[in-house]
Amino acid sequence: MNKKPKFCECCGIKLSRKRYGNRLESTTAFKKRRFCTISCANTRKQKTKEAKQEQAKKIHSVPNSIEAENLAPLTYMLKVMNDPNEPDDRRDRMAIAAAKYVHCRAKGTRGKKDDLQEAAKKASTGRFSAGKPPKVVDIKGRFSES
Ligand SMILES: [Zn+2]
Repeated sequence: MNKKPKFCECCGIKLSRKRYGNRLESTTAFKKRRFCTISCANTRKQKTKEAKQEQAKKIHSVPNSIEAENLAPLTYMLKVMNDPNEPDDRRDRMAIAAAKYVHCRAKGTRGKKDDLQEAAKKASTGRFSAGKPPKVVDIKGRFSES
């Protein structure tokens, strides 16, 4: 049945199908099992210094292509946008992000913000103008300005 002997990945002991009372561990469960005991399964393999450094590099490294080409952010965005191999969704997002740096608004044209600001100025005149600021009251001479 089991031709290849399996060994615990933690302690290296030879694995065999467990016996629960008079029932034997199912072959599928045995095939999936990689450790002899639960305590072995919970023991993290001690990582070597090299392995740790390798992982740190992976986490902190910038994708190779960017680092190698030393691209400016905008150039990078445009490059992704124009790359047919990139997923469409990513290209769309890059296009949106890059648009405001590529196309500047023509001088003299009014945007939504300008309209809103003007409307706000109009609305705060007349009946709705801001009231007078509160008076500074002199309490025992502490707030007198003279
Ligand atoms: Zn073990």
